[in-house]
Amino acid sequence: MNKVKVAILGATGAVGQRFVLLLDGHPWFEVTALTGSDRTIGQTYAEGCRWILPGPMPEYAKAMTIGPTEPGFDAALAFSALPADTAREAEPALAAAGYAVCSNASAHRMWPDVPLLIPEVNPDHTALVEKQKVRRGWKGFIVTNPNCTSTGMTIAFKALQDAFGLRRAFVVSMQALSGAGYPGVASLDAIDNVVPNINGEESKVETEPQKMLGRVVDSHVEPAPLKISAHTNRVAVTDGHMVCASVEFERAATPAEAAQAMAEFQAPALVQTLPSAPHCVIEVRSEADRPQPRKDRDAGNGMTTVVGRVREDPLFHVKFVCLSHNTIRGAAGGAILNAELLVAQRMVR
Ligand code: NAP
Repeated sequence: MNKVKVAILGATGAVGQRFVLLLDGHPWFEVTALTGSDRTIGQTYAEGCRWILPGPMPEYAKAMTIGPTEPGFDAALAFSALPADTAREAEPALAAAGYAVCSNASAHRMWPDVPLLIPEVNPDHTALVEKQKVRRGWKGFIVTNPNCTSTGMTIAFKALQDAFGLRRAFVVSMQALSGAGYPGVASLDAIDNVVPNINGEESKVETEPQKMLGRVVDSHVEPAPLKISAHTNRVAVTDGHMVCASVEFERAATPAEAAQAMAEFQAPALVQTLPSAPHCVIEVRSEADRPQPRKDRDAGNGMTTVVGRVREDPLFHVKFVCLSHNTIRGAAGGAILNAELLVAQRMVR
């Protein structure tokens, strides 16, 4: 098959760099455009990007010229790693011009006709794409992936919802520094410290899972009746968001049953065939001190959700810890998996 031409919007940032790396040699996608802000437009990627990931900058990107984030570039699909305020204007303009936009930004996640997508959880929500195009008169469309903290916990919640139904969840996050982008949190705020607030994060973690676990009705999503209370914290870890969760089910279940439901959870058959789909969706560990960000964030090339410490909860039914790589599963890798699903469903050619 001919590769689909793709652009990376905001290619020099923490998430943009993950896209550049993960798309190097991708079997379905070829990167044909990179965009940035006024700071970098006109420079080559090697000149404009301060590479923060381990290993060298991929060769293919080095000599590419960074362009503006506006219609005109040669691509069918645009991966957006733009700040939310830039995405608010830029993404609809690109969708109107005919691009399929796969966005990491929060700007359009909760629009009723925009899919908020995790292929293992709600691949059927792409049914909104056609409705969105018709309603807005766009030739292209926008699909989003969730906030990086919502991602791993929603995958675990999906396994539990399918098995026992979910009524309430109480969650506390410990979020990595790379979640704030680059340069992100000042070192004097981060080192030897925990910051008990991430602006706007708690409401995202409390509402995005409800949309993803809900069902499409006409041209919107009926949210799942699950109620979530979230505390979000920034900790001095480079990559990997950890969430401690206590959950109450519709039908009581033991920790062993909950662990089994998560360990056996599988993606729908089509999703299992996608190039970036992890072989194991949820890895359940039995050690008392796992998961840990440094040891477990790269499971399944950063696409597997790692769960551990599944045990009885004195207030609800079960509590556990889950870990997800924030710039891979929670951002660039998640958006690439979404795009692969759109290709497999013939919404992008
Ligand atoms: P970042 O490191 O601050 O990078 C921001 C990028 O956007 C840079 O490439 C920057 O380009 C570009 N940019 C800034 N203003 C622009 C403008 N006016 N026009 C075009 N490009 C512009 O941020 P990040 O962490 O990569 O996050 C990117 C997006 O993903 C955000 O919406 C964030 O909320 C979301 N997200 C992040 C994570 C994560 O773990 N980091 C996870 C999920 C979602 P220049 O270098 O040229 O200025």
